[in-house]
Amino acid sequence: MAGFQDWTLAVKNLLLPQYCRQCGVRLLTEENNFFCPTCWEMSPAIERPFCTGCGRPHPAMVGLGTRSNFPCANCRDKPNRYIRRTYGAMRYDGAVEEAIKLFKFNGRERLAGPLGALLVDFARREMECGDYDLLVPVPLHKVRQRARGYNQSEWLAREGLAAFPGARLDTSLARIRPTRTQSRLHGKARQSNVRGAFAVSGDSVAGRRILLVDDVVTSGGTVTECARALIRAGAASVDVLAVALATPPDVSLEE
Ligand SMILES: [Zn+2]
Ligand SMILES: [Zn+2]
Repeated sequence: MAGFQDWTLAVKNLLLPQYCRQCGVRLLTEENNFFCPTCWEMSPAIERPFCTGCGRPHPAMVGLGTRSNFPCANCRDKPNRYIRRTYGAMRYDGAVEEAIKLFKFNGRERLAGPLGALLVDFARREMECGDYDLLVPVPLHKVRQRARGYNQSEWLAREGLAAFPGARLDTSLARIRPTRTQSRLHGKARQSNVRGAFAVSGDSVAGRRILLVDDVVTSGGTVTECARALIRAGAASVDVLAVALATPPDVSLEE
C-alpha cells in the first residue's frame, strides 16, 4: 500500500508541484505540504533557561550552562495579575510563523497535526502536565469564526489534550464583542481593544486549574483579558500555552 501511495504522490507532485513556503525548494513528498523538513527543523524552539512568568527565553544565558528557569526583570517587577505562567514552544519566527499564518486561513487539516505536535512535545518536556483540569482555547468572535469556519486555537487545544491526560476541553469562554487585530494597534490601544471582550458562560471553570491555549502570544493583552474573565468566573488558576511567543513581546499579529 505504501508503494501505491508513493506512486500517487509522485504523480501528484508532477502535476501539481508544491514548494516550501519558507525557502521555495520544491517538495518531493507530501511532508506537511507547506514546508521542507529543513525549514521545519530550523524553526527556533524555546529552550531553557526561559522566564517563569512570560515564558520568553533568556538569550544571554545560552552557553553559560544555566538550565534553571527564572523570571525576567519585567515579570519580576510586574507579575501578571491573572496569569500564573505563560509557556511557548517556539519563537514566532521562520517556518512556524508562516505555518501559524497559514493555519488561520486555509491550513487547518494539514497544519493542526504538526503545530499541535510542537505543543505536545514542549508540554511533555517542560510542564507539569497533571496540573490542569481544563484546556480552554482563546475564542474568536462568532462572526469571525463563522467566516473562518473554525477556531484555530480550539484545534490546537484538541491536539494538545494528548499531553494532558487528566484534562478535558472546555469552550465556555467566549469573545462577546468583535475586536480589531492587535497587530494594527499599539500600547494602550491594545488593552482597550480587548478590554471586556470576553465572558464565561456557566460554571464549569469554577475551582478549576485552567490552561488557556492560543496559537501565538505577542503583547499578551488578549490572553490576559481572557484570564481575567476566567478568574472572575472562579477559576482556581490560569496558565497559558502557545505554539509561539513573539520575542520581543510587542510585535506583529495577535487575533
Ligand atoms: Zn524550506
Ligand atoms: Zn518574563
